[in-house]
Amino acid sequence: MAKKLKNYIGGEWVESITSDYIPVHDPATCELLAECPDSTAEDVDRAVQAATEGFDEWRRTPVMNRAQYMYRLKTLLEDRFEDISRMVVQENGKALDEARGEVRRGIESVDFATGVPFMMRADGLEDVSSGIDEFTMRQPAGVFAAITPFNFPAMVPLWFLPTAITCGNTFILKPSPQTPISMDILFEILEELDLPEGVVNLVQGGKASSMAIMEHPGIKGVSFVGSTPVAKLVYETCTRHGKRVQAQGGAKNYIAVMPDANMEASVKNIMGAAYGCAGQRCLAAAVVVAVGDAYDKVRDEVAKQAGNLRVGYGLNETTQMGTVVSAAAKERIENLIQRGLDEGAKVVLDGRNVTVAGFEEGTFVGPTILENVTPENIVAKEEIFGPVLSLMKAENFDEAVDLINNSRYGNAASIFTTNGGYARDFKYRVNAGNIGINIGVAAPSASFPFGGQKDSFFGDLHGQGSDSIEFYTERKIIIERWI
Ligand code: NAD
Repeated sequence: MAKKLKNYIGGEWVESITSDYIPVHDPATCELLAECPDSTAEDVDRAVQAATEGFDEWRRTPVMNRAQYMYRLKTLLEDRFEDISRMVVQENGKALDEARGEVRRGIESVDFATGVPFMMRADGLEDVSSGIDEFTMRQPAGVFAAITPFNFPAMVPLWFLPTAITCGNTFILKPSPQTPISMDILFEILEELDLPEGVVNLVQGGKASSMAIMEHPGIKGVSFVGSTPVAKLVYETCTRHGKRVQAQGGAKNYIAVMPDANMEASVKNIMGAAYGCAGQRCLAAAVVVAVGDAYDKVRDEVAKQAGNLRVGYGLNETTQMGTVVSAAAKERIENLIQRGLDEGAKVVLDGRNVTVAGFEEGTFVGPTILENVTPENIVAKEEIFGPVLSLMKAENFDEAVDLINNSRYGNAASIFTTNGGYARDFKYRVNAGNIGINIGVAAPSASFPFGGQKDSFFGDLHGQGSDSIEFYTERKIIIERWI
């Protein structure tokens, strides 16, 4: 029988007070996996109370001891590595190796958090005036929350929770109601850590619990990852309520391919960037701008390789591309493909109506390639968040840069070239927060902040890296005289 999910508040599993539950289906088999409570403002309030009550004891726990919990968390995550990976496949639809990659990346954020005792240190200066010393101190700031998306159900929450709590804050996580189960497993693991009550709290749900988090006066700051319209809403609502906020939004990532690029290696890389996780990545390659005579080579090679991708059930080890997350996502993606065609694009490879034997009801969309795409076409402008790659031509490097900078998004952009001059100019001029040079998915490792500009990010301090230490701490300046 499908599990009825609970919230985890103040060190206990508790039922939400709602009677509304959201079904969670495996998008390939359509099996009902769980029922997720659509938690209410009252559930959030209980979590805030627990987190507030837990804060004082936790902030007084020496930072070295707080970091020890992260070492143990890492070990427990390694022990449950396959369980979590398999659940990510079942609730999200991606291929097993992709899920393993995501869990591995999540664990890297736990590794990063073990360094908080070093990273939280601040600096000082003696004799700023006669007999007066001045220094800074970083302190935990209170209760933080994260609202996270469906596409990396295990990794994205781990971008935030480990660093936030190791800095001495208490924490509330609200995952996506489309993929809530891997976080149910994470909290089983966190329970084994025996953290003091209230340090970590899980509230499952959708919009009502998100809104309650944004508006609750007891929450100091919110980390958000999701689509641009919601990121904007989160930024505006949180700032209106006096909160710190980092809101990572949607994307439309362009890749420029220069005629001098190593074509075989570049296209292999572009394949992974466009079709990995069925294109449901904020760093997915959405548009390839091929410069000059690179166009025909890229088009032919991409078509050949994309046509050979094995689409199937994610738990089957030979599958290279799984489903998209839901029937609604499939319908939205297929509608956008049609709109692109109506606006003048031409199909090179059509992934609509792909079926997989044994999984006929699965929400599969096969690799799709569109060409003859103009900058005004909807498929060049809007995030599709599916396995759809649009091809554009540019006469020269400058035109490629202009096309990229024209986008309202600025999450990532890449160039494939063997020319250092183009590579330098690209990273200098392109307005995107994560730049790839001969790298299709420009994903920062845990020790670097995750970039994002324009409509892909709202806030000042980004997630991960040194920004996360700033975000999750309050800085105090002490000016001292003892004589
Ligand atoms: P989403 O915006 O629909 O949902 C994200 C979270 O917000 C979920 O927890 C959801 O329950 C909540 N939410 C949704 N609508 C809401 C509303 N109206 N009011 C309050 N809360 C609401 O995003 P998604 O579909 O789950 O995820 C895909 C999106 O996330 C894509 O746009 C992708 O580019 C983006 N994303 C961005 C990054 C990044 O680092 N920039 C990383 C991963 C995903």
